[in-house]
Amino acid sequence: MATKRDNTLKLKFDSARKLSPAPESRSSATIRPRYDLFINGKFEPSSGKKYFDTINPATGEKLSEAAEANAADVDKAVKAARNAYEKCWKKMPAKERGKYVFRIARMVQERAREFAIVETMDGGKPIRESRDFDIPTAANHFFYYAGWADKLEYAFPNRTAKSLGVAGQIIPWNFPLLMASWKIAPALATGNTVVLKPAETTPLTAMLLAEVIQEADLPPGVVNIITGGGSTGAALVNHPDINKIAFTGSTEVGKIIQRAIAGTSKKITLELGGKAPNIIFDDAPIDQAVEGVVNGIFFNQGHVCCAGSRLYVQESVMNDVVRKLRDRIETLIVGDPMDKNTDIGAINSKQQLDKINKYIKIGLGEGYDMYQSSCVLPDRGFFLRPTIFTNVAQSSRIAQEEIFGPVLTIQSFRTDEEAIEKANNNPYGLSAGVWTDKGSKIFNMTAKLRAGVVWANTFNKFDPASPFGGYKESGYGREGGLHGLQPYVTF
Ligand code: NAP
Ligand code: MG
Repeated sequence: MATKRDNTLKLKFDSARKLSPAPESRSSATIRPRYDLFINGKFEPSSGKKYFDTINPATGEKLSEAAEANAADVDKAVKAARNAYEKCWKKMPAKERGKYVFRIARMVQERAREFAIVETMDGGKPIRESRDFDIPTAANHFFYYAGWADKLEYAFPNRTAKSLGVAGQIIPWNFPLLMASWKIAPALATGNTVVLKPAETTPLTAMLLAEVIQEADLPPGVVNIITGGGSTGAALVNHPDINKIAFTGSTEVGKIIQRAIAGTSKKITLELGGKAPNIIFDDAPIDQAVEGVVNGIFFNQGHVCCAGSRLYVQESVMNDVVRKLRDRIETLIVGDPMDKNTDIGAINSKQQLDKINKYIKIGLGEGYDMYQSSCVLPDRGFFLRPTIFTNVAQSSRIAQEEIFGPVLTIQSFRTDEEAIEKANNNPYGLSAGVWTDKGSKIFNMTAKLRAGVVWANTFNKFDPASPFGGYKESGYGREGGLHGLQPYVTF
């Protein structure tokens, strides 16, 4: 029988879900029916004249198609980048280079609304995320690195930093424009030229960025953007005239790339997968912590490399936390990513949805307790209810492997040592979160957690000035901040 509390909550959840629709207008963005490769400052079809579809994962409908670059196109793009590097970019005074990067930053800012709409339609993330986080943070990265271009002597005191040459850059689908800016901005600021390959399911904002770069009058060949699948990425990695590979994506592909460049002089940075622990102590502000956990794993569909996908809760507050989490996820709005009220948008692709469902089955098969929100999912597109697993074993696959979806595993701990041991007992080490009232506990935990970033009493906070990167199988090298310049220079 429903208790009085259940009835009160039901009323609250129903009213949260009955917010009037607030769809973002699509009129500020034009998606062209077809996008060509951006090589040497011009848009051109691939030499094989092949195109692949990119769809809107919220509807399953085709949005556009992008050219599929083959090895000959990759070679053409690398040659354009080499030519631009030797003849123009490496000789250009740093102050002038910086002006171009500033111009790109301003133009991304001016066209922010258009970028946000296209990002959401192509990738499925809520418009609130692309509008308030992805696009402004991407512009901020260009602003930040534009400022460094003529100040490298302060970044590397008593040393003369020299550019490397041509950088081959490969990015994933979860933050398409933001990852492009993380890669392109520091490369240009340090005097390198670029060939960038976006992910197959989200090529559109990269192509919009190519338009911006063309309008910004960047010398032809300084940035080349080529679309295609894994084989295009592999051709870029294996091209003999590349000086540096910057890769963000899965650990599996990261390992393939590392093997491919072994024995060459190519420099490499790898930003790979994650399985971040979020640790709640019994002295933490529980409501705030629950909100942070929700933000850390459910917003953005859990498509975040540093998502807080493993929750560790001190035993005495376990029941409280689980109850509050269940209540909170009931209020999350899952659905049309273009609606400004939506918290959880579409899963990026059918393939990714299948992968997440496979892990949910594994979790159920291993006998863990699952709770999913009772929300009604749209009848088309790729969607998933926010999902929680409790009583999970540390050795279980759902607590060890990256799921990359809105799925949270919860375990308890008694002492600080147990929390550290469990949190570190995982192949990944990208990020972690600690929730406690005590500063001394925060310092103790941050010193012992094997993760590139540790957030204290907050989660998933980013700033261009702050470096980001992994330990262990989460990769190596840092992006962002002063540290993000280092992989693009030699002395
Ligand atoms: P992915 O499958 O590894 O793909 C990443 C990129 O590599 C895509 O552009 C992909 O092309 C390309 N690629 C695939 N096979 C390749 C090969 N053999 N050689 C060269 N390039 C190849 O990863 P994803 O599924 O797109 O992205 C999710 C993963 O990225 C997660 O593991 C997540 O944790 C990680 N990630 C890490 C960070 C970080 O900063 N550490 C940030 C964001 C995401 P296609 O798209 O055509 O397959
Ligand atoms: Mg798409």
